[in-house]
Amino acid sequence: MGESKVDILLLGAGGREHALLVKLAESPRAGKLWVAPGNGGMDTMAEVATIDQNSPVDVANFARENGIDLVVIGPEAPLVEGVADAVRSAGIACFGPDASAARMEGSKKFAKQVMARAGVPTAAWRSFTEQEPCEEYVRRLDGPCVVKADGLAAGKGVIVAKDVDEALAGVRECFSGRFGDAGATVIVEETLDGPECSLLALTDGTTLVPLATAQDHKRALDGDKGPNTGGMGVYSPVPMVTPEEHAAMVAIEQRVVDELRAEGITYSGCLYGGFMLTKDGPKVLEFNARFGDPETQVVLPRMQADLVDVFLACDKGTLSPDMISWDDDWAVSVVLTSAGYPGSYEKGKAILGIERAEALDGVTVYHAGTAIDANGQLVTAGGRVLDVTAVAPTFEEARRQAYAACDLIYFEGKTMRHDIGAKAVLPRNNG
Ligand code: AMP
Repeated sequence: MGESKVDILLLGAGGREHALLVKLAESPRAGKLWVAPGNGGMDTMAEVATIDQNSPVDVANFARENGIDLVVIGPEAPLVEGVADAVRSAGIACFGPDASAARMEGSKKFAKQVMARAGVPTAAWRSFTEQEPCEEYVRRLDGPCVVKADGLAAGKGVIVAKDVDEALAGVRECFSGRFGDAGATVIVEETLDGPECSLLALTDGTTLVPLATAQDHKRALDGDKGPNTGGMGVYSPVPMVTPEEHAAMVAIEQRVVDELRAEGITYSGCLYGGFMLTKDGPKVLEFNARFGDPETQVVLPRMQADLVDVFLACDKGTLSPDMISWDDDWAVSVVLTSAGYPGSYEKGKAILGIERAEALDGVTVYHAGTAIDANGQLVTAGGRVLDVTAVAPTFEEARRQAYAACDLIYFEGKTMRHDIGAKAVLPRNNG
């Protein structure tokens, strides 16, 4: 393709996609940018394509008709639906795995089976397709365990049960049909202890290049209290990870990609490993087939790379580690949410102060649940509204800047955690 411009269609609507769009737009190779469906921040940087992002036919047709050179898939649903397969079949480059490889996220059982064949450490597990034997098994365990719906459940299909009653309630919830087909198969697994760490890696199916570590904060309230959410804040890198643990996580991800290739599946895109750093070393909690949200918002700003070249290389099988280097900086991102999230919340509240926040050194505000209303006003349109991200030479400075920027932004019901990154400076609790 030489130095020709690359027209790009980016699928998704979250803070992750806004961060991807900002990084893609920085590339000298970037041509015309399209988003579907986009959000209040992305829509000012790119043209909106009015297509169903989960429809392989729609996406492939739109890409063909509009001369798109690269389709970048942000969220998991289009991957599992086979959007990447359709785009590649149309002869267009795509960032994101085909449906067969995206099963690493789309089916926890499939992922566990691949891990077993690859000899990758993960929690001991059993799978069930019927409620009665599953309840019987949980009763026999008679203690803490983790109950998981097999398929995609928008982050809600995992019940970490501290006793048999909670576990039974989790089993019933999964089999109740609440998660649709995702709950038709249920995994029961051993509870692991330790700090959690995400490691994102890019791969072309053979070469794997790890990106920086990041630590998310899943619970809604300070001190890791309250219900699980899509993520309330994140920082990168994670200082508590030892070099040995880092090497072990990279080796695990490489083994998975190698195993899939040996089975005839090319995994190309981002492989996101969720790990528990146990006393016996890192063990896999889950794999995701795409960039993490909000991890991407702290990983990409520290990355030195031409993201267009890197994504094309993942698709073509020409990825090499020297395409990516890292700033020594630290990044902290605080998520501003609508009051009530992750429960019900109001939308349509005017958002003010983003420009003032971004005038602070090192601060970027990524949009998640935002929209531009009929009057041209930026308003809230989701539970997670903005990802206020700061990059600085020290962790303390990044954290201070992120919170200073949060204070400059206003919308009715603005809610946030106040302890994002507190764990980075505390002594490590190994469970
Ligand atoms: P998952 O989507 O499988 O990563 O699960 C979501 C969250 O549930 C994880 O981030 C962990 O906090 C928790 N979790 C999942 N599996 C386990 C496990 N085996 N032991 C302890 N906690 C777990």
